[in-house]
Amino acid sequence: MNKEEIWQAVLAQIQLNISPANFATWFKNTRIISHKDGKILVSVPNSFAKEWFEQKYNKTIYKILHSLDDGVKDIKYEVEKSGLKVLKRALPSFPENGQLEFQEFKIDKETNLNPKYTFENFIVGPFNELAQAAGWAVVKNPGHVYNPLFVYGGVGLGKTHLLEAVGNEIIKISPEKKVKYIPSEKFITEVISSIRNHLIENLKSAYQKIDVLILDDIQFLAGKEKTQEEFFYIFNSLYEKNRQIILSSDRPPKAILTLTERLRSRFEGGMITDISLPDFETRMAILKTKCQERKVGFAEEILVYIATNIEKNIRELEGALNILIAYQKLNNVAPDLKTSKSLLKNLIFSPAKVVSAKKIIKAVADFYDLKEKEIISISRKKEIVRPRQVAMYLLREELNSSFPFIGRKFGGKDHTTAIHAHEKISQEVEKNANLVEELNLIKQRVLSG
Ligand code: ADP
Ligand code: MG
Repeated sequence: MNKEEIWQAVLAQIQLNISPANFATWFKNTRIISHKDGKILVSVPNSFAKEWFEQKYNKTIYKILHSLDDGVKDIKYEVEKSGLKVLKRALPSFPENGQLEFQEFKIDKETNLNPKYTFENFIVGPFNELAQAAGWAVVKNPGHVYNPLFVYGGVGLGKTHLLEAVGNEIIKISPEKKVKYIPSEKFITEVISSIRNHLIENLKSAYQKIDVLILDDIQFLAGKEKTQEEFFYIFNSLYEKNRQIILSSDRPPKAILTLTERLRSRFEGGMITDISLPDFETRMAILKTKCQERKVGFAEEILVYIATNIEKNIRELEGALNILIAYQKLNNVAPDLKTSKSLLKNLIFSPAKVVSAKKIIKAVADFYDLKEKEIISISRKKEIVRPRQVAMYLLREELNSSFPFIGRKFGGKDHTTAIHAHEKISQEVEKNANLVEELNLIKQRVLSG
């Protein structure tokens, strides 16, 4: 492998473990400058990135490089000028339609939409057809049918893809419309910095001009009261003018605990639709379509192997294909089933997939916006007691933990407390569909986190 190929193989693996936004932010414009005597010098675009690589990504990069070439001993990062030119040279053989191709990320400056997300390449199955249909309805009649449109579901299941497809389609039909896509984390930063700079009124009036506002991952607004307040104002003024608002979240509005009541009821006043998990047939269809798009082919048994083992995340299905495609490019031959299994070992059997008590507790805490410490504390506050019971229930159901073990995990409580929690939640599961859904969303988190 030459240094370009090595770096490609590193990127292919990194891409699986971080969000596309992070990937684009940090790994765009990077390459290996030199590779000598076990020392690798990596070029990064600026000093900020250099710091991040040294502090955050170095360990991972080292591990991957070492697994490719055990002669690698040391990695250094260096800021190199004229990043873009470098990029073209560094990434000559990336797959034509592949995610890895940064030239693809031609995010529109005005709308902030990524043109790669369209309805044409959005595969529909029983798990997402309602959400897709709602999206189309909004395209046909923005601002008037479903307002807001609220799409929720687990990680990597196509929320962002669908939301952006709606935006892209509206622009295609009516180029004069002002569409804006913004991830909630970015929105929060905007609000905070404009408050600090006394520019909040400017920000608000800029938002007044938008015809279609797409706010992604609004679960991040939880606990951000000031931002929620400003968003409430923006929401109302757009809503009154029949402008379309589209929102996504990893859970339904009622499960975002620290959402102000007035925002929650605003959200619930529109159309709420979920994206659940794709069934086996859909997973196969997704793999086959993506192979076609990328102009590659793998044996049916390999696709079956992937679709059987990756059930909960479409991004991971794509990731598995990326790994196989990288192998094929490097070796000029498609992997057979045995090789594929070994290549996909880390993805499929990664520690992230192994359920542990710690992961369950963390997932429950995250879901209810609590700290892990609070869940395992002895506090009797109502907003903590119930999530704690849910966590105890899941430990029993998912790990078959003993009641004394569960009691001990939660601040040294007696096993009867654990039995009581388990009984209480079990009974409620029988009659409360909302709770069942909450539990499913938490389980998805455990598996994807
Ligand atoms: P989320 O926002 O729910 O975490 P994304 O929209 O980022 O998920 O989807 C993850 C990846 O899977 C993206 O690359 C996206 O294009 C792809 N994807 C998701 N759903 C579909 C689908 N129905 N058809 C084709 N690709 C999909
Ligand atoms: Mg998303």
